Amino acid sequence: MQCFSAWGDILFCVECGSEDKVYGHLCKNCLLSKNLITPPDYIEVHVCLGCARVLSGGSVWKKMAHEDEAATVLAAASKSHVEAKELRWEVPSFPADKGEHRVLCTAISMIGGEELAIDFEIGIRIRFQQCQSCSRQSGDYYESIIQLRIDDLSVKDAEIELAEESALVFKMVEESSDENAFISKCSLVKGGMDFYIGSTPLARAIANKFRNRYGAITTESPSIIGMKDGRDMYRFSIAVRLPTHREGDVVALDKKIHVVESSGKIITLKNVSNGQIVRLSPDAPTLKPVAKFHELKDVVVVTHDKTTIQVLDPDSMVAVTLRKPPYLTKIGETVPVVRYDNVLYVV
Ligand SMILES: [Zn+2]
Ligand SMILES: [Zn+2]
Repeated sequence: MQCFSAWGDILFCVECGSEDKVYGHLCKNCLLSKNLITPPDYIEVHVCLGCARVLSGGSVWKKMAHEDEAATVLAAASKSHVEAKELRWEVPSFPADKGEHRVLCTAISMIGGEELAIDFEIGIRIRFQQCQSCSRQSGDYYESIIQLRIDDLSVKDAEIELAEESALVFKMVEESSDENAFISKCSLVKGGMDFYIGSTPLARAIANKFRNRYGAITTESPSIIGMKDGRDMYRFSIAVRLPTHREGDVVALDKKIHVVESSGKIITLKNVSNGQIVRLSPDAPTLKPVAKFHELKDVVVVTHDKTTIQVLDPDSMVAVTLRKPPYLTKIGETVPVVRYDNVLYVV
């Protein structure tokens, strides 16, 4: 069929003869009557039942919207007319419930430099699966054990004594982007707690945090658990030994009551009667534990002045006047106290 005019540069539509702008050999009307985009009957998107990650490109589990993966799959599986270029899909948000969803999606392509949008109802099937990370987690997979320890800690005290540290482990796991950021087991043991961690790099990061924040001493011991691709596979036990005296604990130094300000290789103490700061080795023989930070009792303040404070003795409920620690500038309704050698101290 003739498609060029006699004077050469004006094109006619080969189907209807229109002299409107043509795209290839057809005017827009004739072009739009063709199947410009042919989407597949349905597509599948795989979503992890455990963590809602989406299988991307058939190989990698990612934290992404299932609609975005659906758009990618649609673009790859659709046929498009030679004049429809740069095809992409817009998939509106829909719930990732199991089964087939009929979703009105929009195919957007460039026709001769103009954007053309066409809507199609597409069957999108959501398939539930378990991602590698979740299946490892449910299978008690772990790469490292964090062994959190304090000297002389009994099993029954471990939970309360290590509440803050335990919360920190869970928080770091929660916030990690590591694929194997999970705790497959956590148990109370003599001396502390064990955390079975899915990822060794994450376990090491946790151990580092304890070293930097609490002055813990960490030691790592590997054990070979098998071979993979000709290489030895290791699991690590990472012992995290927390200092015996920790921030907020009360100790006696030469029988004088002090509060632990910070701990580590050198321990910083504050004298409760004069506010004086002392730094020494935590192994000093003159240093004796008096009470853990969580064993301190809060008692009701009756009255106070510059140097004294009257409180209700927690055992006798009789009002007693005690020396006010000089660093205590703001007094609330209660203050923490500790009894040592039968004397009550505000700390
Ligand atoms: Zn035409
Ligand atoms: Zn998962």
